Amino acid sequence: MAKRDYYEILGVEKGASEADIKKAYRRVAMKHHPDRNPDDRNAEEKFKEASEAYEVLSDPEKRAAYDQFGHEGLDAAGGFGGGGAGGFGSFSDIFGDVFGDIFGGGRRGGPMRGADLRYPLEVDLEDAVRGMTAKIRVPTMVHCGECDGSGAKPGSRPVTCNTCGGMGQVRMQQGFLQVQQTCPHCRGRGTVIADPCNKCHGQGRVEEAKTLSVKVPAGVDTGDRIRLSGEGEAGPAGGPPGDLYVEIGVREHEIFQRDGRNLYCEVPISIVDAALGGELEVPTLEGRVKLKIPPETQTGRLFRLRGKGVVGVRGGPAGDLLCRVIVETPVNLSARQKELLRELEGDLEGDRHSPRKTSWFEGVKKFFDGFSL
Ligand SMILES: [Zn+2]
Ligand SMILES: [Zn+2]
Repeated sequence: MAKRDYYEILGVEKGASEADIKKAYRRVAMKHHPDRNPDDRNAEEKFKEASEAYEVLSDPEKRAAYDQFGHEGLDAAGGFGGGGAGGFGSFSDIFGDVFGDIFGGGRRGGPMRGADLRYPLEVDLEDAVRGMTAKIRVPTMVHCGECDGSGAKPGSRPVTCNTCGGMGQVRMQQGFLQVQQTCPHCRGRGTVIADPCNKCHGQGRVEEAKTLSVKVPAGVDTGDRIRLSGEGEAGPAGGPPGDLYVEIGVREHEIFQRDGRNLYCEVPISIVDAALGGELEVPTLEGRVKLKIPPETQTGRLFRLRGKGVVGVRGGPAGDLLCRVIVETPVNLSARQKELLRELEGDLEGDRHSPRKTSWFEGVKKFFDGFSL
C-alpha cells in the first residue's frame, strides 16, 4: 500500500512552520487517539500515521530528506526504523514532547542535568581593570571514575526497572485518556541499581574539589558573571553537567572608588598650594600624573582627568579620573609658626579674602532676620 503524503496526513501546507505542524499533529492525534476510539482499527491506524508524519516533519533533517526524495529518501537514509510505523517507544517520546505541557510534563526523562554552581571571586581593582587569570578551587560533584558514572558496582550493570519495565513511565487512566507519568520507582530512568558502586554509593558522582583557571576579562565590575559551561555539578547517574558561574566582587581600593567607568579619589593639598596654586602628582592606575592646581582653589573642588578611568568590559572609551582636592589644616604647629599665622591673619583685611565665609555670614544674618518678622 502506498504511503500517504505526510503533509496531507496532518492537513498542513508544504511550507508550514514548525509550530503549525505541531499544532496540526496535536489536533489529528487527539481526534484519533485510541483511548477516545476504543476498538476502532481505522482510528488507530490514523493515529499511528499522524505520529509517523510528525516524527519526520518535526525533525529538520528528516523533513529535508522527505521534501527532496519523498518516502524513499527516508528509507534510503535508514531514517525511519525499518520503514514501518515505529514501536510504541518511539512515538510515546514524541507524544510526550507535544502533549507534555498539558499532561503535567509526564515525559520520559533521560538522566538529569547536574546543578549550576556559583563561585564568588574577589579581585583587586587593578586586576578587574586589566583582566587576569584566576585559579579557583571549586568543591563540586564530579563523574565517578570507579563506575564511570553509572552508579553500579564495576562488573555489574543497572537492571531494568520492574515497575515500568524499562520505559521510565507508567500509564495511568485520567478521564478519557491514558496518561503517561514518570515512573516513581526509577524516577524515569528505566533502570535501577541492584548492586551500587562503593565509591559513589550508586549516585554515579562523587564530591571533589577541582581546580579551574578562570579568565577574567579586563573591565569587569562587581556583579559581573563569567559562565564556565559544563563546569557545574555532574548530573546524577551519568547526566550532563551544569554550568559554573563565577561572580565577580571587586575589593575596596585604598585610593580609588569606582563608579562604572569613572574613578574617584581624594587628594589632600596644603593651604599654601590651595592659596598660591601649585603642581601635584596624583596617582592613576597607570602610574602618576601631574595635576595643576590653580591659585585660590577651595577645598572640595573636583578636577577631571579625561581618559584616566576604566575601560568597560564591553570596550569603548575609558572613563575619567575625578580628583577631589581637600585643603588640609596644618597641625603640630610651633610657637613661631602660630605667630606667623596670627600675623598673616592680622594682615588679611576685611571680607575680600574669604568669599565663602562672607556669603555664609550673610546667609545666617538673613535667616535670623526671617525669625524676627
Ligand atoms: Zn561510582
Ligand atoms: Zn521504573
